[in-house]
Amino acid sequence: MDQKKIAELLQFDRDHIWHPYTSIDHPLPVFFVESAEGVRIRLSDGRQLIDGMASWWSVIHGYNNPHLTLTLQEQAGRLSHVMFGGLTHGPAIELAQLLIGLVPAGLNRVFFCDSGSVAVEVAMKMAIQHAFARGLSGKNRFLTIRSGYHGDTFHAMAVCDPEGGMHRIYQGILPRYFFAEMPRCRFTDEWDEADIHSFESLLATHHRSICAVILEPIVQGAGGMRFYHPEYLKKVRRLCDEYQVLLIADEIATGFGRSGRMFGCDHAGISPDILCLGKALTGGYMTLAAVLATEEIGHVISQGEPGVFMHGPTFMANPLACSVAIRSIQLLLDGDWKNNITRIEEGLRQGLEPCRNLPGVSDVRVLGAIGVVELDRPVVMARIQNLFVENGVWIRPFGRLVYVMPPYIINDADLRTLTAALCRVVALEVSV
Ligand SMILES: *Cc1c(COP(=O)(O)O)cnc(C)c1O
Repeated sequence: MDQKKIAELLQFDRDHIWHPYTSIDHPLPVFFVESAEGVRIRLSDGRQLIDGMASWWSVIHGYNNPHLTLTLQEQAGRLSHVMFGGLTHGPAIELAQLLIGLVPAGLNRVFFCDSGSVAVEVAMKMAIQHAFARGLSGKNRFLTIRSGYHGDTFHAMAVCDPEGGMHRIYQGILPRYFFAEMPRCRFTDEWDEADIHSFESLLATHHRSICAVILEPIVQGAGGMRFYHPEYLKKVRRLCDEYQVLLIADEIATGFGRSGRMFGCDHAGISPDILCLGKALTGGYMTLAAVLATEEIGHVISQGEPGVFMHGPTFMANPLACSVAIRSIQLLLDGDWKNNITRIEEGLRQGLEPCRNLPGVSDVRVLGAIGVVELDRPVVMARIQNLFVENGVWIRPFGRLVYVMPPYIINDADLRTLTAALCRVVALEVSV
């Protein structure tokens, strides 16, 4: 496309289209993507960027993956969509079978929905209906931990970190839930029993009104990119059982190998009662999410009032999305995913280490295929975003966090280029 045409399109974009968390009056520039292949995003001016974001955790097998593209094309020739009320199809059934075999044990009731935030809403509704069906209608509140992120819809917002999130604006509209202190003990620290006290005492005091705990297992994503101790999660599981409160694991970011185990829960060897999946579920091709629950939850909900689970999105179990999800999971399982994540983890560790001694850098941490450089003050987005693009990489920081979670197919040379560019740009950023 010629540059004049591109400039016109960018102007239209600027004049008429919302972007995520972006001002209409003072938008930062957006870059025009023409195509993407493997780990490379190609801009309209011909520049190629090595992708460090996997498009927000999702594009694990790289862009335009030939297997996924072919699967999608073939499925489109058979059945792109059909309503899920009263009808079913192969892709939904096969995907459910795959997921049940893959997730922590005991979760064998699958609800498909459109996006991560909706999956969180669905999971929270399940917990409320579960309590209601048991005749405990006052047991309808949630306990979570600070620094969490669970999505942008209303009940998801209500369990996002109250400071980093949107609580202030929506005060009075959002229900007030319980927030335990964020876990302090890091993934690699020695376990400190005091870490669970805040959580334990909230649960002990309020368990009668709490239907479920919701949290991100091990990796807290958009709420702070923190990795906490597996013992914390084990304790949470034990306490939930003790106080008869359901445990919802939001694995929308951590699912499908990102943290070095297939699921965050696997680090602690626990099973939640309800599990949310999304993001990488379709290899980043389509929007799709899944909520898995135990048999018991399904039956209790069905035996109480009104005898059904009250949710049913228009695009529930979309066949295109289900078929590409099946193929994506097969690709993951067919490859040596675990050693591959270890390889990326090593590359990130070595590659990001030089940042540690920079003034203005407060922490460098890596878990699985996630690398984080935390600064002591927020980045200047307009400046740093341009610097990354000029250095040939796509990295999009937020606040004080500069982080990468590249597609799993990234090779060692590209990974070195990515981390070297990150260190170079961070050095410039903190020197200003
Ligand atoms: C991204 C994310 C969500 C929300 O998913 P969307 O598809 O953006 O609605 C929820 N929980 C976690 C942990 C996430 O990372």
